[in-house]
Amino acid sequence: MSGLSASRLRDIPSVDRVLKTPVAAAAVERFGQQSTTRAIRDALEEARAACRTGAAVPDPCDLAVDALARLKAAEHSSLRPVFNLTGTVLHTNLGRALIAGEAAEAMRAAMREAVALEFDIGTGRRGERDDHLRTLICELTGAEDATIVNNNAAAVLLVLNTLSLGREAIVSRGELIEIGGAFRMPDIMVRAGAKLVEVGTTNRTHPRDYLSAVGPATGLLFKVHASNYRIEGFTAEVPARELSAIARERGVPLVHDLGSGTLIDLTQYGLRHEPTVGEAIADGADLVTFSGDKLLGGPQAGFIVGRKDLVAEVNRNPMKRALRVDKLRLAALEATLKLYRNPDRLVERLPTLRLLARLAVDIAAQAVRLAPVLSNALGDQVTVQVTECRSQVGSGAMPLDTLPSAGLALSPHAGSGEALEALAAALRALPVPVIGRVEKQALVLDLRCLEDEAGFVANLANFYPGGGGGAVA
Ligand SMILES: *Cc1c(COP(=O)(O)O)cnc(C)c1O
Repeated sequence: MSGLSASRLRDIPSVDRVLKTPVAAAAVERFGQQSTTRAIRDALEEARAACRTGAAVPDPCDLAVDALARLKAAEHSSLRPVFNLTGTVLHTNLGRALIAGEAAEAMRAAMREAVALEFDIGTGRRGERDDHLRTLICELTGAEDATIVNNNAAAVLLVLNTLSLGREAIVSRGELIEIGGAFRMPDIMVRAGAKLVEVGTTNRTHPRDYLSAVGPATGLLFKVHASNYRIEGFTAEVPARELSAIARERGVPLVHDLGSGTLIDLTQYGLRHEPTVGEAIADGADLVTFSGDKLLGGPQAGFIVGRKDLVAEVNRNPMKRALRVDKLRLAALEATLKLYRNPDRLVERLPTLRLLARLAVDIAAQAVRLAPVLSNALGDQVTVQVTECRSQVGSGAMPLDTLPSAGLALSPHAGSGEALEALAAALRALPVPVIGRVEKQALVLDLRCLEDEAGFVANLANFYPGGGGGAVA
């Protein structure tokens, strides 16, 4: 180290000197002594590194301002609201379904007050947490009984562990799917303690494949709705109804994992037919599992519905306790399911359905409205064009079906990949980050999921091409 930078380092103020500045005093008042001291140490460390490479020595006030900025930035929740303009309505990385206002209200009430979670108000005795939803779910699906766990992965794990621990679970090779991340059906089956018996081939599975595999060691037949991919061409699968006849004849239960699972016929909203839970029950599945935060439009949860004796067995499994849901989610689920009792108003009250059902013409009109606003906010280095695009349902539901939509295509004049990435980063640096998708050398903002147009416009006032700095309030 040169003599010059060594003397510079000696001139850097101490933590105590920085703490004596008015800015640091204000920081202590707001964030506490301990956090402020830590932030000053971090600021000092960075200043020392900068001095070693020739930067000027900062004065105590600069360091205090730096520390305060760090404290403010750290105060922002990292679980921040964002504008999901990716075009994927149920985006797993962005939290999937937005729950209905009614569900949010129910959750808030359950959060702040004691609730009769496992308490029968009529008798004054202990109740069951599943009681709150059982009647509703049975009414909406035609099932005999139901229970709820943390998510659908937990539902699958618990059902397999209950009915096929140390026994064989028979599944078609065409249904051994990977959902994403580390969730692969064969792995979860093995972890559940089931002996996986694969039948058929990737593209074709026949009734005789199941029939020749069923034996005294069989715990269950397992059907998985291959939600996130489709095999086309020379294919054959055994429909649920036929498989349930085989299961009944051989005296083993049929478990049907629907994945997304919807409670209503989605074709009335212009979407493709997705098997409903009611259909899976009517087709003879003994247990059906599905998610709460996919097409159903509620909070994260996993449903296990079907035969009373089997649901009772699931509930006796000690693992159930490790996978159960809390009062907040039960409250949100109850409120969400109640919306389904009035199908006429469902599309306006359930955000997932409302977004999926939005018409391309309405989205296009919104794009035309917003194009000049966005163009103005982004400055003259970016071209903004109204564009047609296709949205996706997401979360593995209807993978090949896209919905006609509209949005804004943003193209930086610089035309390079870096310029595009810098634009995407600057939009992510807004107080409410805007997340789009890159498509054909443009950043496309699909407006299907933009409901708070005024909030979006107000947010743009903070746009600053370099990103970062402008955003921290
Ligand atoms: C999504 C999905 C799961 C997992 O559900 P989570 O709610 O994400 O745990 C399981 N099976 C199928 C077929 C799915 O599509």
